[in-house]
Amino acid sequence: MAIFGGIEAGGTKFICGVGTGPDDLISTRIPTTSPEATVAEAMAWIAEKSAGRLSAVGIGSFGPVDLRRGYITSTPKAAWRNYDLAGAIGKGLSVPVRFDTDVNAAVLGEARWGAARGVSNCLYLTVGTGIGGGAIVGGQILHGLTHPEMGHVRIPHDSVADPYAGGCPYHGDCLEGLASGPAIEARWRMPGWDLPRDHPAWLLEARYLALGIANFVCTLSPERILIGGGVMRQSQLYKMVTGEVERILGAYVENLPPIMPPELGEFAGVLGALALAEQDA
Ligand code: ZN
Repeated sequence: MAIFGGIEAGGTKFICGVGTGPDDLISTRIPTTSPEATVAEAMAWIAEKSAGRLSAVGIGSFGPVDLRRGYITSTPKAAWRNYDLAGAIGKGLSVPVRFDTDVNAAVLGEARWGAARGVSNCLYLTVGTGIGGGAIVGGQILHGLTHPEMGHVRIPHDSVADPYAGGCPYHGDCLEGLASGPAIEARWRMPGWDLPRDHPAWLLEARYLALGIANFVCTLSPERILIGGGVMRQSQLYKMVTGEVERILGAYVENLPPIMPPELGEFAGVLGALALAEQDA
């Protein structure tokens, strides 16, 4: 039986997996060092574990990426800039490679095996060191001229109520600039995990996330919204964000989608990559 390889390519680690889905997935973590060393180690592990039965590899990568060429583009990690990641893996393992962003892989994995099973339109957001979003629209991953950059949408920012200028190096107070983990830490001068669950930081966070989500609801009309990432370990945020989205849109949009955590947990990325590979089978 054919099996697939999946790689969640991150700035600090590569999570590699081999299998056909959550039930038979085996995985490992490789620290991200130089492109050549990291890719060689990942390929050696995948080749060994797949024992000649590998039919395709999927890669969900940190970005920004050039989806047509399979490159990571303007990362601050200089050695990885314009590195032909998909090409190196495809050549080394002699199988087709499907390459996408980490969040697009995650939304695909959740649609295949997780919290978005059975729906053709869903949105996945990650809120952590940065904010990113991936979407499935009409059963297909949403692509365009490039991939969506949902973390960088502009949202209303009341500078009197929240004098923090925002931390995005490109836009200042875009969604990511106002609501990522580092923005929370810079605004309140302590990391989010040290802030109590009833701290006013979380209502402000819920408002900002809801303003972004209101834009995505109005443009993509998702049937389900999944939010993952380190900031969402503050699980009270799910109810608060839902309430804020209702407050912003409820009088106008009749059917609001449920907002919930992803189901595949720490394996969402690598299972998403496996689901990408499966599309090439
Ligand atoms: Zn930005």
